[in-house]
Amino acid sequence: MNLLSVREAQERILQKVQTVGQTKFPLEHATRRVLAKDIRAAADLPSFDNSSMDGFALRSQDTSASRVTLRVVADVAAGAAPTRSLGPHEAARIMTGAPLPPGADAVIPVEETDFTERGAGVPAPAQVTLTRKVDAGENVRTRGSDLRAGETVLAKRHRLRAQDLGLLAMLGIANVPVYNIPRIAILSSGDELIPVDAPLTEGKIHDSNSYALAVQIQDAGAEPVRLGVARDERAAVESLLDRAADMAVDLILTSAGVSVGAFDFVKEVVESKGNLNFWRVNMRPGKPLAFGDYRGIPFVGLPGNPVSAFVTFEVFVRPAIEKLSGLEPRPRQRTTVRLAEAIESDGRESYLRAVVNEEGIARLTGHQGSGNLFSLVQANALLIIPAGVKSRPASSEVEAWLI
Ligand code: AMP
Ligand code: MG
Repeated sequence: MNLLSVREAQERILQKVQTVGQTKFPLEHATRRVLAKDIRAAADLPSFDNSSMDGFALRSQDTSASRVTLRVVADVAAGAAPTRSLGPHEAARIMTGAPLPPGADAVIPVEETDFTERGAGVPAPAQVTLTRKVDAGENVRTRGSDLRAGETVLAKRHRLRAQDLGLLAMLGIANVPVYNIPRIAILSSGDELIPVDAPLTEGKIHDSNSYALAVQIQDAGAEPVRLGVARDERAAVESLLDRAADMAVDLILTSAGVSVGAFDFVKEVVESKGNLNFWRVNMRPGKPLAFGDYRGIPFVGLPGNPVSAFVTFEVFVRPAIEKLSGLEPRPRQRTTVRLAEAIESDGRESYLRAVVNEEGIARLTGHQGSGNLFSLVQANALLIIPAGVKSRPASSEVEAWLI
């Protein structure tokens, strides 16, 4: 059987998924949002020459290597409007961030003068003495030295971090053009599934996938919409998928019910009201992955086994959410690690749970069955063994994702 490669499956999904719409959003709520437009500076930063120290603004030409006393003619606090011009042998006491008086071209820090009173509320002295040459520009932050009006300071498709928000605030941008946050429906399927707070009875298990997937979705920057569990009946699956479609979510994620079991209705229901683009990928865990659309909304049918659901999310859904969110989907960063022991693979592209230590040595966390969630909990990496590879000896290098 010729299974679709992981790469081709990823490409098909990315081709079909479209970035969500955009909006203007208040700055204080825009962290982690993705910029929908390039941001250009409307003004120079800083927008006026100012002092980087508490000290005395002066004219550098008045100073020399020997002792000089200047008359203090002004006192400039941060936030003050510019004062009168400094003439020959005049200085102004100045605070950090205060505008440089016209005529001044440098600032000497208060610590380098004879003025020793430095507490809050201390009035400016009538004169100040210094004993060194001060160069023009010393301790002055000149207008435009950080950035110039017209410069592109943040590019479209960038996810906003704390420092970016700070810069946008400096530029006076109160409302930021950002993409909407994609809403991702999660629905589980299976007669065996019961809610986490219901007591286990014979044959039942707690639905764990919807919890883990919701966190993966949030972590990818999207909003999970948890729709609960569909029983293994055609009508139940259809009604839950219809709920998702009625809510106009941006992506529908199901888990389980896409294998070859007698009660696996998900594919059939999707085909009845949409299309199945592919089913089954050459990977382990996660072979029975389905992709298509349901009533025009992209649909990814994840396998039910918890490790398969987690790994296929990372391989296929995270990049899709990145594109939905407005980000440029980029291949995830890989690290090269060295195997502590020989490993075997079955020839499919495999994602093996492992612990990588500080020296970059990787050891599998135990049984690699796709239902063994604990071995994923113990892992801090997934080793990626390419398709066609059946084994790797101890000490060989393989690529890994840190998780
Ligand atoms: P299926 O694809 O329906 O054959 O399910 C494959 C395996 O995953 C079965 O052992 C299911 O019990 C298990 N499974 C399915 N859905 C979930 C879920 N939401 N949480 C935990 N395990 C699940
Ligand atoms: Mg099932």
